[in-house]
Amino acid sequence: MSPKVAFVTGGARGIGLAIVQKFAASGFNVMVGDLGSSQSQWNYALASADDLASVKSTTTETEIAAVELDVTQESSCKNAIAATLKKFGRLDVLINNAGIVQSGPLEEFSEQDWDQVFAVNSKGLFLMSKAALEPLTASGDAAIINTASIAGKKGVRNMAAYCGSKFAAIGITQSLAAEFAPRHIRVNAICPGIVGTAMWLEHLLPSNTLDQQDKQTNFEEAVSSMIPLKRAQSAEDMADAAFYLATARNVTGVALTIAGGMEMN
Ligand code: NAD
Repeated sequence: MSPKVAFVTGGARGIGLAIVQKFAASGFNVMVGDLGSSQSQWNYALASADDLASVKSTTTETEIAAVELDVTQESSCKNAIAATLKKFGRLDVLINNAGIVQSGPLEEFSEQDWDQVFAVNSKGLFLMSKAALEPLTASGDAAIINTASIAGKKGVRNMAAYCGSKFAAIGITQSLAAEFAPRHIRVNAICPGIVGTAMWLEHLLPSNTLDQQDKQTNFEEAVSSMIPLKRAQSAEDMADAAFYLATARNVTGVALTIAGGMEMN
């Protein structure tokens, strides 16, 4: 039988890239979907065409392929799933990981930014799940994993759009878990705590003038005091959790927090 296939949105870097590598190292062929040359303007740079092209498998047993994807566009989602089926012939796991953040006081927050945060973080789950439904059903043992956040469990000051979009992600996860159970598709979410990716280093950490080394040190110092286990989470922590949920055959509708004790619910 051909290897199982996973599709990872926002897989060209950060948490998504670690998920891609974990699944590829664990026997899956993986399709990476990310913006690449189709990226639009945001308040920090999103994954480039070079980022997307440079994702490679570290094993010879499995293959990683890449496709340009904008999860806010239905036609792009459909094309990406069609490209996956053409390349690998099947789809077993969909990981809806693409996400963006924008923070700031509500009176300064633009309608355009509000809509884009929800379009990527919430609507993207709908469009990708819909596009992938037929091949996931055909799998007979499928999983969807949505990357939500601890910000999807508790509100945070100046983060109404992001928190709202991640609360929505958990609601969508629970609804689809109930709806897709008869199709043997389990639907779960991971809720990362604080991971030192572009979201934090280029936007949330208020130190945009620092160089990369200072940013990393500053980041570790700033976040360790907020976390009971006293360390930031890693992208690999998230990949381990995603892989667990992809293979836990009696688990569905869960929003699993990986946050060093920051969120206990
Ligand atoms: P990141 O910015 O490195 O990765 C996000 C990826 O999503 C990028 O590759 C980006 O190009 C892609 N993306 C953005 N808009 C897209 C679109 N319209 N279509 C396709 N791809 C798109 O940041 P990350 O931290 O790796 O984020 C991954 C996920 O983890 C996000 O959903 C984020 O909300 C979530 N998360 C991150 C943290 C953290 O501390 N970093 C915490 C909680 C949740």
